[in-house]
Parts: sequence; structure tokens; C-alpha cells
Amino acid sequence: MINANPLPPHDWPILQPGWVWLCGAGPGDPGLLTLHALNALRQAEVIVYDALVGPEILDWANSTAKLIYAGKRGGKPSAKQRDISLHLVELAKKGKKVLRLKGGDPFVFGRGGEEAQTLVQHGVPIRIIPGISAGIGGLAYAGIPVTHRDVNQSVTFVTGHDQSGESPSSINWKAISDGSQVIVIYMGIKHVGSIRAELLKAGRAADEPVAVVTSATTTNQKVLETTLGRIEVDLKSASMAPPAIICIGKSVLMRQALDWQDMILGNAPRNTDPLGRGRPAEAS
Ligand code: SAH
Repeated sequence: MINANPLPPHDWPILQPGWVWLCGAGPGDPGLLTLHALNALRQAEVIVYDALVGPEILDWANSTAKLIYAGKRGGKPSAKQRDISLHLVELAKKGKKVLRLKGGDPFVFGRGGEEAQTLVQHGVPIRIIPGISAGIGGLAYAGIPVTHRDVNQSVTFVTGHDQSGESPSSINWKAISDGSQVIVIYMGIKHVGSIRAELLKAGRAADEPVAVVTSATTTNQKVLETTLGRIEVDLKSASMAPPAIICIGKSVLMRQALDWQDMILGNAPRNTDPLGRGRPAEAS
């Protein structure tokens, strides 16, 4: 028998006044939200969201929620991190039910840890809701398994930016190159030239496969397949815009068989009502 309600009752947490839930929204496709994220979106009175959280995701918010943009995009003037954290504290102290919604996973290169620390320091109760990180889910949408037994027993996630927007000087590229068969780089486009040079210097091969996935999991997703040697040149001519994930290593070759979006999905039918009863009821 088909269950008319595909989401059975469960002991879902209630977002209380004065609390802040720090929640990952996944890399873009709203289908990659967790049920905890959905539960949060339905209850929040105020949602403070980042540049990487698209309208398709905010669509799931309670219609009475106040949406506050706190975008930070590399290199552009944007809200200061300290100001964002203190704004969250202020909203909580006013007794609001606050959702802090961040792209991907809030604790992966997302400054979620810093925001959580500030909230805790100010005595604001928090809940953390992990999300699917772009470096894993985004690559999966490009047909790249971030680990595969035939390819790698290790993977390193690296950021191409530090707090000042520069390539982080603390990264030991030689150690990463020696120790990690697959390297996944967040925020790597700006410094792709120096990253390429460091990895070649550390002994990675110029013909090593590389994929760059931009706007992964969204309808604008683009994938560039290239090599470590050619990445900078090919990126320039491909005119691809951030956000981008760069994957370096043999797992990129798996895409030849696993590019399910282009090769397999095709015109597969869509389910316009996955929850089985129109939009979920508004939280009261
Ligand atoms: N917390 C996020 C990462 C935030 S840092 C996460 O876990 O995914 C921002 C960087 O994440 C971007 O510069 C880009 O490198 C990567 N990123 C986030 N969303 C992406 C997407 N949809 N496609 C490609 N890269 C993405």
C-alpha cells in the first residue's frame, strides 16, 4: 500500500524564541536540503542567508519570515564577519527564532564555526544542522566520486583563499601533494595559477586530470575537464564564473562513465510534488 504521507511523524526539534540554528543549505539544488533544514525553514521568523543560498531554497521558507541577506563574495565589499555574528546575537536577544542559512555545510570553509563561537560566547543557544558540502555533493553531480577504492584512499579539502583573500601561506602543498591522491579545492579560481605552480613543483604530473565544476548542482552547472598543466589556460578560455570546485586527481576520469546528469538522466520525468501534498503546512 502506498503511504499517503511520505514524511512520517517524527520528533522534530522546535525552533524556540531566542535560539539561532546554524544550517547548511547544500550546494544549490533544493533537493539537497536536509529534512532538518526544511523543518528550520518552516519555523524561522528571521532567516539570515548567504550569497550562495539561492531563491529556490528560500522559497521553502515560511511566507511570514523576514529574509536578511548577509552575502560575502570574495573580493567584493560585503558585510563584515564580526558584524554578521553580532547581528545574529542581537536578533536572538530580541527573542526571534533565527535561522542562519549558509551554502553547503556551515562548518566547511563557511565561517560557521566562528559564528557559533560568538553566539555561544554571548549565551545564545544554538543548533547546528550540517549540509551537503560542495566539495562532495557538487562533484557527485559532475559524476565524480570523491573517493573510489580503485583510485584513492585519501582526499584533502583545501581552501584557495585565506581571510585576506590571498592564497593561504600556511598550506604545505608538498605535504598535500605527497600524501593525498585526490585534492579538492574550494575558492581556488583566483589563485589557480599559483596553486598549479605549487603542485607541479611538489611533483604532481602536468597530465594529471582536473575538473572544475561551477555552480554545481544548480541549473547553471558547468564542468571543465582539463589537466593540471593546462588548467589556467583552459579556465581563461572557458569563461567560467565562481563558485567553483576544483578536483585534482584520477577520480576525475570516473566521470567518463558516471556523468549521470548528461548521459543517463536525459529527459527523465520529474516529480513536482515530492512531499505528496502540495507545499508543507506553514508552522504556526
Ligand atoms: N560551506 C560551503 C563552502 C563555502 S566557501 C560548502 O560546504 O560547500 C565558498 C566556496 O564553496 C566557493 O567559492 C566554491 O569554491 C564552493 N562552492 C559552494 N557552492 C558551490 C557550488 N554550487 N558549485 C561550486 N562550488 C561551490
